[in-house]
Amino acid sequence: MKTKHSLIIAFFLVASTFCEAHTFYWEKVKCPVDGRKFMFTGTGSMTITGDGYADLMIATSGSHYGTLIQSCPKCHYSGFLADFRINLNRKNKKLLQKHLSKYDSTNIDVVVKCQIAAEVKQILASDYVEIASCYLVGSYLLRYHSQKQDLRKEFQLKTMKYYKASYYSFQCSDLADSALACYMIAEMLRRTSRYEEAMLYYDRVLIYSTPDNRVNLLAIKQKKMALEKDDNNKI
Ligand SMILES: [Zn+2]
Repeated sequence: MKTKHSLIIAFFLVASTFCEAHTFYWEKVKCPVDGRKFMFTGTGSMTITGDGYADLMIATSGSHYGTLIQSCPKCHYSGFLADFRINLNRKNKKLLQKHLSKYDSTNIDVVVKCQIAAEVKQILASDYVEIASCYLVGSYLLRYHSQKQDLRKEFQLKTMKYYKASYYSFQCSDLADSALACYMIAEMLRRTSRYEEAMLYYDRVLIYSTPDNRVNLLAIKQKKMALEKDDNNKI
């Protein structure tokens, strides 16, 4: 869980640490379901555009978010790079093969990859925040698709659901983890126009973090937006 939480922090919260160059990485990976080998290509660093202030506000050049989750070209198994470095037992391989076969005639775009990755993690009983991470990336990819805002909200509500599951089942390992989980819950609530409940979770962020912490500053700023009933997703 810590790994994936760190990933979320890296990509959504700590924009100021990113460098200006836009670089790529690639790694030959093997699908843990059927052994198919392919190149996993992603963005190593990127240029931050806009003010780079808060979580999903970070606007980047290139296709950084669209390359975070990728799929096996043969069976559609999907996940982050780390998900292609795992070994699966025979039972889980069979379970996944059966589930993934329903995507055989589907156009696997970047959003579908996020959906599949989340389903894979549910089948493998991964930590809740890992499942949330897949829906979060999908919701981010959908923010400018005016025709798909219902799907964007569906992904955000699922992100919230799994962050809540993580928080209430005590999967958060320390105060910093709890602060991040509450911040993500609050943001998903604000972004889906659930302002009253959002403010409760921004307040919890303030309890779990100190004033000099970045997530504390973000919670204060975003809570003001919730007070003004601002559900802006495109910032
Ligand atoms: Zn595969």
